[in-house]
Amino acid sequence: MKPYIRDNVPIWNMETCPKNTSYEAGFLVSKNSGWREIRPIIDSIKCTGCLQCYLYCPDGAIYRENGKVFVDYDFCKGCGICSKICKHDSIIMKVERQ
Ligand code: SF4
Ligand code: SF4
Repeated sequence: MKPYIRDNVPIWNMETCPKNTSYEAGFLVSKNSGWREIRPIIDSIKCTGCLQCYLYCPDGAIYRENGKVFVDYDFCKGCGICSKICKHDSIIMKVERQ
């Protein structure tokens, strides 16, 4: 028997995904970006919209809008996972206060 997800979940794209991975009244209820030392910068030209960064961000800090992805810097902790997971080198990590 094939895994359920292979048969029943539609192909991921901007239209089939929810707007972001956080839920109303979810686990991040207060801003937590104060201790971030590096911040992700998304290159919207290089971005293909594959949504891997959106799926892997542990804090649901990446959201999609009008076919593009953006970072909610109020909740991004600067872990860099999105940058590591992006196969298109669309996200660079920049030191804060530069
Ligand atoms: S992983 Fe990279 S290419 Fe994919 S949506 Fe995120 S920034 Fe864009
Ligand atoms: S740096 Fe970490 S917390 Fe910030 S958007 Fe990327 S994966 Fe999410």
